[in-house]
Amino acid sequence: MRTTDAFVALRCIDCGERHDPETVTHRCPDCGGITDPEYDLDAVDLSREELAARPFDSLWRYEELLPFPRETAVTLGEGATPLVECPTLAERMGVGAVYIKDEGRNPTGTFKDRGQTGALTAAVEHGADAIALNSAGNAGQAAAAYAARAGLDAHVFLPDRAGFTQKAMTEVHGGDLRIAEGEITDAGAEYAAAMEAGNEGAEAGWYSTKTFVTPYRHDVKKTMAFETIEQLDWDVPDAVVYPTGGGVGLIGMHKAATEFRELGFTDSLPGMYAAQAEGCAPVVRAFEEGAAVHEAWTEITTVCNGIAVPDPGASPWILDAIAESDGGAVATSDGAILDAAIEVARTEGIEVGATCASAVSGAFELAERGEFDEDDTVVLLNTGAGNKDVDTLRSHLGAREEAATEAE
Ligand SMILES: *Cc1c(COP(=O)(O)O)cnc(C)c1O
Ligand SMILES: [Zn+2]
Repeated sequence: MRTTDAFVALRCIDCGERHDPETVTHRCPDCGGITDPEYDLDAVDLSREELAARPFDSLWRYEELLPFPRETAVTLGEGATPLVECPTLAERMGVGAVYIKDEGRNPTGTFKDRGQTGALTAAVEHGADAIALNSAGNAGQAAAAYAARAGLDAHVFLPDRAGFTQKAMTEVHGGDLRIAEGEITDAGAEYAAAMEAGNEGAEAGWYSTKTFVTPYRHDVKKTMAFETIEQLDWDVPDAVVYPTGGGVGLIGMHKAATEFRELGFTDSLPGMYAAQAEGCAPVVRAFEEGAAVHEAWTEITTVCNGIAVPDPGASPWILDAIAESDGGAVATSDGAILDAAIEVARTEGIEVGATCASAVSGAFELAERGEFDEDDTVVLLNTGAGNKDVDTLRSHLGAREEAATEAE
């Protein structure tokens, strides 16, 4: 396997054991814990000036800080997304500046592409010929695209509530689409059963690219923070508000900010804020209760599919990142979330996904609570393109118009 010089081990976040990434491909073989790529930052020969001189063309421009060198990457030119200034939102929130990191500009329309370029690169380096995962939808679509790019088979387990676009495009890319009745956890059960059958021979050799089963999704998603900080001319934003499901992106960005600080590129960390929908908010509930770990959410009542994750296994790590960065967590209603998506589309012209707008409505709520200062820089993650959720957005608009007509 070809790895970068600085990538020295996979460290288990539970038992602390360090493993060789050549032989350990996924979770900790000793305790089953999540593994995290560990870097020897002293081995990184890189300066801010060198980075700035590189073309802003793909997330692989940070290759020294990634597990694999650029020449090995299974890539579609993902990352390097725009950071769009939103003066109307800044005024509304009473802060110095608001930016939207627009991840909708990725190859399959969401930031899940960052995770799958990492996971598929690892799969190829490990000699896999098929990948498998369960997902709420966007990661499945991204996995099918990157598997196609690499010439691997993709087995994608989605809940029936996943969007039409995500299901359709998984098949258009040639993926083997399996639909489970229920939620992402039900798709997870079917995935797990198929993986087990795989180990008994029938479907041998499926390589998982599932959330926090592969160590390479959160690690490569950290590039969202590298890019944001560089796009702000090395100013660290005061707050980053992130639509949180499994927390992959939040953990990744916090890791990135820590690495930049350790390299001496910056001297602070952005406050990481988890935004969720009131209809599925296990991380927010744990945060508010001061708990170290979430309790599984039992009844999901949100249309925000991408964050309808009732049992996020990495919650202790998410809560640590929030505490370490002096951030927070906030849940808002579906009505407020969808209103926020429409408001951004109308005032700033940016197409924010339904799920993603939880970061916008969450930021509005945080601003109202007085969480931000008047000169703060706040970054909102638009994790996916608005046109992936046209049905949800349009039907909310329809419902609003109907209510307005009735009120007349
Ligand atoms: C997957 C997804 C999320 C949640 O991502 P995590 O990193 O797992 O918390 C948010 N928004 C969209 C659009 C997604 O597809
Ligand atoms: Zn372990």
